[in-house]
Amino acid sequence: MRLVVDLNKCQGYAQCAFLAPDVFAMHGEESLVYNPRAEEEQRERVARAVAACPVQAITADGLDGAGESAASGREASDAR
Ligand code: SF4
Repeated sequence: MRLVVDLNKCQGYAQCAFLAPDVFAMHGEESLVYNPRAEEEQRERVARAVAACPVQAITADGLDGAGESAASGREASDAR
């Protein structure tokens, strides 16, 4: 899967490096390095990182920031 981090938005909060350490890593205090072509197996972790990034700096194939967690939240509240 492909992903892009907008390094102009990224504030180095390192949420992504914590959630998907095989894809994102902090280099020094503030700069992020990442693998723009992450393995498919990392998809779920990348999805968590996308959702967790406080500034929505991560964009990934087939995942749009607001996407899945918002949708599943809606399902859960509808299913009464
Ligand atoms: S979680 Fe977002 S702001 Fe934090 S290091 Fe990752 S991309 Fe940057």
